[in-house]
Formats: sequence, structure tokens, C-alpha cells
Amino acid sequence: MTRRTAVVAGGGIGGLAAAIGLRRAGWSVTVLERRADPGEIGAGWSFAPNAIRAADALGVGAEFRAISVPTQAGATLRTPDGKYLMRFREGRDTALLANHRADLHRVLLAHVPAECVRAEAEVTEVDQTDTGVTATYGTSEGAQRIEADVLVGADGIHSIVRPTTPVFQRILCWRGVATRGSVWPVDGFQTWGRGARFGAHPLTGQRVFWFLTIRQNEPGQPFDDDLAEVRRRVGLWHDPIPALLDATPSNSILRHDISDLDPLETYVDGRIVLLGDAAHAMTPFLAQGACQALEDAAVLAAELTGAVEIPTALAQYDRQRSQRVQRMARQDPRISLSTSPLVYGLLTRLTRLAARKAARLWNWTPPT
Ligand SMILES: Cc1cc2nc3c(=O)[nH]c(=O)nc-3n(C[C@H](O)[C@H](O)[C@H](O)COP(=O)(O)OP(=O)(O)OC[C@H]3O[C@@H](n4cnc5c(N)ncnc54)[C@H](O)[C@@H]3O)c2cc1C
Repeated sequence: MTRRTAVVAGGGIGGLAAAIGLRRAGWSVTVLERRADPGEIGAGWSFAPNAIRAADALGVGAEFRAISVPTQAGATLRTPDGKYLMRFREGRDTALLANHRADLHRVLLAHVPAECVRAEAEVTEVDQTDTGVTATYGTSEGAQRIEADVLVGADGIHSIVRPTTPVFQRILCWRGVATRGSVWPVDGFQTWGRGARFGAHPLTGQRVFWFLTIRQNEPGQPFDDDLAEVRRRVGLWHDPIPALLDATPSNSILRHDISDLDPLETYVDGRIVLLGDAAHAMTPFLAQGACQALEDAAVLAAELTGAVEIPTALAQYDRQRSQRVQRMARQDPRISLSTSPLVYGLLTRLTRLAARKAARLWNWTPPT
């Protein structure tokens, strides 16, 4: 049988995971990534057990664990004055795994042969017939075309493969990484203020990733000094928050308006299939966006393994990937970032319920 071919638009976490899974399924894969150096990106993030199982299914679980540190942030919840609403207990609560985005990217990239990844290759158009797909992409030498059996749209929230306008969710997020050894140890925690949520995860190399999300009515708000703005909001919150801010180089702080996508009717159109943020970009409130991208990749690879009929296999993938997580991630900040004293009061009394909501998603297991 001739080897099946796939083009993956986008070399982020989802695209690389898809490439790894498809190669394990015996496919020949080309990843087209518009960035020159896809490795230098982002800050930290956390992964739940569903993502670790997906990483295992993709054959990268051991390396995933090696670059990760357990974080208690899923079950240690505090108020700005330091009071514990809930405290992680070994044996009862689940530790998540936190890592630096660039580290995970490096691990995944190492599983895809260099000749399978084209950097500075921006996909500009995709076409399909009954028998194949064509992607057109721009390079420094002009436009090029590549044909394949399947096209995987893994090109993020502003996907060209799926042109749909993202929806601003009235949330602003700052992220930073405190330098090596400056504030250590940190077990991982979240602090719930009224209309603001701070969180921190330990990373390898005694670094600490932190984030602050707030309500923000308009996108594109400029700030002269992001660190000063974060300090103004949470600089007097409990330890070690002030120390984490002091240990973060001000020029390394990331600030993003948070948008998501309205749920799509389907992730599949003939031989074109979406995964990751291109399919279901969601707010970060369940910490599941990248987890779901890894799940997508594991399911896609499982469905495309063997002598499959491609449209049938993609339809099977579509059936298994629900929009539920994306919907939950949109609802969550409506409550958790509410500025109403009444809602905040209720939330801090119902912490266990609120914290457990996401835990249902953690039970997912990959298809065999
Ligand atoms: C503040 C914040 C915190 C988060 N925290 C967590 C967390 O703790 N846990 C978690 O699981 N998730 C988290 N997420 C979600 C996570 O970041 C995303 O879900 C994840 O990065 C999606 O991966 P992706 O590969 O689908 O998309 P992306 O990471 O967006 O990658 C898309 C890639 O495609 C490339 N590309 C785009 N257009 C083109 C084109 N036309 N041609 C070629 N290449 C193209 C881009 O350069 C990029 O490399 C968070 C998100 C945010 C914003």
C-alpha cells in the first residue's frame, strides 16, 4: 500500500503532536509553520492527567514528565490575604504537571525529523478534491504548493484553514516567570480575588510561572509598565506573590486579551480536519486548551491508523471530539471573574465544587 500523506498547517503543540501521532501511524507528514523559530514562545502552563495519557499514547510521556514539575495549583486555593479556601492534600487531590511551553515544544519537535518541518512557511490557501488536498504556502522564495491525502488545520485561534472570528471574552491575562532559584520552593496555588485570579506553578530549574487574569471590558488596552500594573493590582496580596513579581524581569512579561471561538458544527470538512485552538480555542480557566490539543492528536492518530477509509476515519474523529470543554471554559470566568461581592462570596464558600468542575475532564482515556 502506498504511504498516506498529511500536511499539518501550524507547528504549535497541537500540530507537532498530530505529526508525531500520524508518523507513528505510518503516515508521511509535512508540518508547515509560519514562524522562523517556533521554539521561543510563551511562558508556563499546566497539564491534567488526561493530557499525560494523551502524551503517553503519542509515545512522548516519559520526556513530558522529565520536563515537568508537579503543581498543587488545582487544589490549593487562597484569598488575597492568604487564607486557605482549600489546601492540596496528598492522596486526596490530583497534582497537575507544569512545564515551560518552550521546553514542551522542544520535546515534541525532537520527535519530528527536521526534514518534516518547514519553518517560515505560512499557509495561505487550502483546496481539496475527492481524492486529495493542496496547501499553498508562502516562503522567502515565493509561493509553493504541496499535495497530500489529508490536511490538518492546527494553526491556532486565527486559523486560515477555518476562518472564523474569535470572540473577545472581556478577560486580560498577564504571565511571567520568576528567575531560577529566586523564590523557591513553591508548591503551586491559585488566589481568588474579586474580579481577579492569580496563580503560580513551579517549573524545572527552580523557576516559577505565574499568571494574573482580570476582567477587562475592551481589548487592546495599553499599559506603559505591565509589571507596575500587576503590582498595583496584586502587589499587596499574600506571600510569595510580591516576591514572585520582584523576581520577574519586567521586559519578559506577556500580556494577552483572551478570546475564544464560538463552537463549530464540525471539525471536519472532507479531507480537512481541525485540531487544537483552530478547532476549539477556549479561555484558559480550565487549563485545558493544550490538554485538549494533545487529546485531539491522540484520537486523530488512532482513527487514521491502519488501512482506513479517510472520510470515515475523520468522521469518527469528529464524533469523539466534543465542544463541551470549550463551552465550560467560556462559562467559568463569568462566575470566577465576577466583580459582584455576592457572587465572590458564594464562590469562596463553594470552592470545592468550583475546583472539581474541571476534574471531570481529567478522566479521559485515549482510544486503544
Ligand atoms: C494565558 C493562557 C494560559 C493558558 N494556560 C493553559 C494551561 O495551563 N493548560 C493548557 O492545557 N492550555 C492552556 N492554554 C491554552 C493553550 O495555550 C492553547 O490551547 C494551545 O497553545 C493550543 O495549541 P495549538 O497548537 O492548537 O495552537 P497554537 O499554540 O496557537 O499554535 C498554532 C501554530 O500555528 C502557527 N500558524 C498560525 N497560522 C499559520 C499559518 N497560516 N501557516 C502556518 N503556520 C501557522 C503559529 O505560528 C503557531 O505555531 C492557555 C492559553 C492562554 C492564552
